[in-house]
Amino acid sequence: MHLVCRQCATRFTPELQLVPFETRNETIEEDFLPPGGLMQSESSFYFDDNVGNFIANIADTQNMKLTSDITRLYGCCGPGGGHGPNLQCEICGTYVATKVEDCCTPHYIFFDPSTTQAAMSEGE
Ligand SMILES: [Zn+2]
Repeated sequence: MHLVCRQCATRFTPELQLVPFETRNETIEEDFLPPGGLMQSESSFYFDDNVGNFIANIADTQNMKLTSDITRLYGCCGPGGGHGPNLQCEICGTYVATKVEDCCTPHYIFFDPSTTQAAMSEGE
């Protein structure tokens, strides 16, 4: 399973394996989930209020760029993630995900379901 842009179908992740939300790591400044995994939130946590959002490891992202809009990047040591999506599709510029990489949170990316969707690869 991987995530793509609803607007232009650009692929944002490599092939990922769905892992249970219960296995999340909420330790501050650590990876929320291991690389290669994909989670679907089952309850709200931190700044992500939308149950059902897909969550991925920061290492597992591609074709996205960090916004140049600094109002979306407020944080202490990195983007806190509480100011709207801060990652844009590199091709069409749509805001598609939020990177959370601050010193008071675990580190992860969550995708906006209104601008991204999960896609199955051939053979899945
Ligand atoms: Zn796009």
